[in-house]
Amino acid sequence: MLNLDGSMGEGGGQILRSALSLSLAKGIPFTVKNIRAGRRKPGLLRQHLTAVNAAVAIGMAEVEGAELGSETLTFCPTTVQGGDYSFAVGTAGSATLVLQTVLPALMTADVPSRLELSGGTHNPFAPPFDFLERAFLPLMTRLGATVTAHLERPGFYPAGGGMFRVEVNPVATLSPIELGERGEVIGKRVFAYVSNLSRQIGKREIKRVKRRLSEENTEYCVVETSGSMGPGNLVAIDVESECLTEVFIGFGVRGVSSESVADQAIDATRRYLASGAPVGEYLADQLLVPFALAGGGMFLTSKPSRHTLTNLEVVNLFTEVKARMKDRGKHVEISLG
Ligand code: ATP
Repeated sequence: MLNLDGSMGEGGGQILRSALSLSLAKGIPFTVKNIRAGRRKPGLLRQHLTAVNAAVAIGMAEVEGAELGSETLTFCPTTVQGGDYSFAVGTAGSATLVLQTVLPALMTADVPSRLELSGGTHNPFAPPFDFLERAFLPLMTRLGATVTAHLERPGFYPAGGGMFRVEVNPVATLSPIELGERGEVIGKRVFAYVSNLSRQIGKREIKRVKRRLSEENTEYCVVETSGSMGPGNLVAIDVESECLTEVFIGFGVRGVSSESVADQAIDATRRYLASGAPVGEYLADQLLVPFALAGGGMFLTSKPSRHTLTNLEVVNLFTEVKARMKDRGKHVEISLG
């Protein structure tokens, strides 16, 4: 039984989710205390509890402390069961983070899985569906399992109420990959989503992107989505390079101008393009668990975030695959194996 301290490093929900992912996939039981001790309201929120319950169902696990507000959890998995599942956060809490908790284990399960996830699909401080679909999941497919996602209904923060489906075709063993260079940029795609809001907002955002980012090989699209519970606005900029696709987001917030929303995504895209590193800040922390389960791999990123540093520690606690960082001047190399 591994003992973890949830206050380590970054001190948020990711320590718990990564522990659940690794525990499920490796069959290692753990206890974690001080869950989300680094947050204003510590303990399990609805999103974290949904992730715990999803892991319990998929790992046929025994669990103690699976309650809202709980600051200690004991999790003992038995066998990973692929199959059909439906998980609902019940609030606007991020459903993509629930998926990321159970996905690594399902990628090497005995049978394929079909998941229905509901809750928030586009939340600040969590992977938005667009990032999941076009940046994260294609890399999971390169590890060997085929994973695809389809958005049925967006759920923008704070209303939530979104839903997406995921299909996982597993493999016996994941294969390590290397993301050591980005290659040439093939093209960019810019999406301005508006839901229950004026299309004019999206048009202004696209105009701003055209003004501040090169228009070379770029497609633009205002997407009016319907069926979402609340209003929503988001700018997503895909940068497709020879090696991988990265996705950068600006979240619309009431009282913030369309131009400022676009600027969030533009600034993140410009930083990424200027850095030359293939893997951006968010992708970096999210790749560590799947890479560790693939038994190795390597990627270059810019300065690692606190999430990345903390996740490195969690990975090193659960696996014999050692994750290391090397300074490569302008970049940092993270290698596992
Ligand atoms: P808390 O911090 O309150 O415990 P939490 O459990 O929702 O909240 P964190 O532990 O902070 O979340 O983890 C957030 C995750 O969301 C990280 O893996 C981070 O990379 C990812 N993330 C945040 N913003 C983005 C974004 N714009 N694009 C992609 N991923 C993102």
